Amino acid sequence: MAPRYATVYPLVTTRALARPFTYELTDGAAKGAVVSVPLGRSRRRGVVVELVDEAPAGVEPVPIDSVLDELPPVLVDLALWVADYYGSTPGRALELIAPVKRKRRKEQSPPGERQALTDEAEPPELTSEQRAALEPITTALDTGGGHFLLYGETGSGKTEVYLQACAAALERGKTAIVLVPEIALTPQTLGRFQARFGDAVALLHSGLTDAERRDERQRIAAGQAKVVVGARSAVFAPLRDVGVVCVDEEHDPSYKQESDPRYDARTVAAKRAALEGAVAIYGSATPRPESWDKLQRLELGGRLGGSLPGVRVVDLRREAGYPLSAPLLKELGAIEEQGGKAILLLNRRGVAPALHCRACGTTLRCPHCDVALVLHSDGSLRCHHCGHAETTPEACPTCGSVELARIGAGTQRLERELAKKLPRLVPIRLDADTARKPEALAAALRRFAGTDRAALLGTQMVAKGHHFSGVALAAVIDADTALGVPDFRADERTFQLLTQLAGRSGRDAPGRVLIQTFQPDSRPVELAARHDVPRFLTGELERRRELGYPPFRHLVRILVSGPEPGPVNRALEEVRAGLQRDDVLGPAPLFRLRGRHRAQLVAKTDEPRRVAGRAGQLLAAAAPAMRKAGLTAVVDVDPQSL
Ligand code: ADP
Ligand code: ZN
Ligand code: ZN
Repeated sequence: MAPRYATVYPLVTTRALARPFTYELTDGAAKGAVVSVPLGRSRRRGVVVELVDEAPAGVEPVPIDSVLDELPPVLVDLALWVADYYGSTPGRALELIAPVKRKRRKEQSPPGERQALTDEAEPPELTSEQRAALEPITTALDTGGGHFLLYGETGSGKTEVYLQACAAALERGKTAIVLVPEIALTPQTLGRFQARFGDAVALLHSGLTDAERRDERQRIAAGQAKVVVGARSAVFAPLRDVGVVCVDEEHDPSYKQESDPRYDARTVAAKRAALEGAVAIYGSATPRPESWDKLQRLELGGRLGGSLPGVRVVDLRREAGYPLSAPLLKELGAIEEQGGKAILLLNRRGVAPALHCRACGTTLRCPHCDVALVLHSDGSLRCHHCGHAETTPEACPTCGSVELARIGAGTQRLERELAKKLPRLVPIRLDADTARKPEALAAALRRFAGTDRAALLGTQMVAKGHHFSGVALAAVIDADTALGVPDFRADERTFQLLTQLAGRSGRDAPGRVLIQTFQPDSRPVELAARHDVPRFLTGELERRRELGYPPFRHLVRILVSGPEPGPVNRALEEVRAGLQRDDVLGPAPLFRLRGRHRAQLVAKTDEPRRVAGRAGQLLAAAAPAMRKAGLTAVVDVDPQSL
């Protein structure tokens, strides 16, 4: 006898309704069907997670209204796993696979038109390294899947391996997912997939309008689109029979979603590949220590058609002239003379990252966030955490002295200095202030590509994905910004940033790289200057093993915020007491954000689900008291920043 009932999770965020409901089957709805169901007095969308023969005792099921959509059943298992692992609710996690159609936003030109800057053809033959990498990939494709790290310098041919792996999947009647950190920063990658697979490529990312997303999802559901390229949410693409999942630039922290469900698309990619019997390929020139330690490594080696650029470290303790030291000015002067392009990385927006009183030592801070206010070129002081803005005072608010000194440099000041010292070089600034919209970003990148004697300067955006020809120099203005971050990944992030930026130089002709720093002897700077990725990762893994950090143990972070510091700490002390069997650090205070006091516990554990589940229970039990005190809590499994 066929099942008569369906277990349905309504797509709601209220935790009280975060439970399954039983409905009578209609229309032959199957597992994975997105349905409209009556719930209380309203109609809700829901997802069928299971078909059952009997309703629970005492329940008189009503029928499903209608079937709205049909998703691959494997996505249901994936979403329920996400809910469980990351301590979210099934409703919220299922929304990832059945996104709600939100209200229409402004019109944009179709995605394909806006992106795609390339016409790179398929190479006549693969290199022996590429063939050697593809061999185990295709074998795994035919034998139930596997997980690989594709390690190779920028320009070593990784993208070509993804393209070939996707083609191999298609040949076998399967489909493929290609994840990239940010579509807007990697238009070339998308262009190459479109050039190779034409209409079989669909694009999914958060910048699409609802109409665009609906069209793309329809083409995927209809089986027309077989290769999905997109940012982290594309890991939930409604493809059937996935054969390959590629994760490009696998080290990029933007794969982690920073709101509930706090999933990491890289971990979800591994889970989806396992559920589908697919091959997961993680590619990077600077892999995560986690991947280096755990995955079978496929090495592509060095850059095709060129060697890596020479790196010069400029010791800022000995060289005056920050942000433009004499050696850097000389390199830029050569470009101004002979032509070419430069990329300059400065990971701070604004004119100066802080204003400091020379008389009493006060630093001007955001009244809501405990961070220094950043001076901008319009004379305003802005908080980069909450957006608070005020006009720059004439005198120190503490002591009245007018001796307010600007500390450090931001991108706006760098732009100004460049214009002053190198007037024939065209500065093109790229940061969150200039590139608020994807179109502005694409326009800036196009302008840089089309201008000789241009300097692209900006925050870490300039170190990512894009490939430009004629880049004679890549320079880091201040390697110390990333080193100073209080996070156990500070060294890793610094190393990745420096190495990624170095990879932007000299892709077609010999290029130069220059790193300005006050800490030339620090491990990440020294090893990035030598392009020694294996040595860096080996050292990093040793350190993490000693300290019990990932990949040796998991972290679970429990963050509480509220209007007063006392109740925040007390709530965390209680959670800590309830987690007695575990290795818990904290409560440690964090800087205030938007006027709210914050503190966190960090648990090191081999059982992240158990710890997250226990923390969730403790917080749920304390919920009424916490609400009264205005406290909110977040449990973050495998956090990517602390
Ligand atoms: P990565 O993804 O590692 O940065 P790409 O796949 O983009 O490397 O390759 C770098 C450059 O080399 C690209 O211009 C690409 O077209 C070219 N390329 C890749 N594979 C080959 C090959 N087998 N023969 C010739 N050129 C290749
Ligand atoms: Zn003062
Ligand atoms: Zn603020």
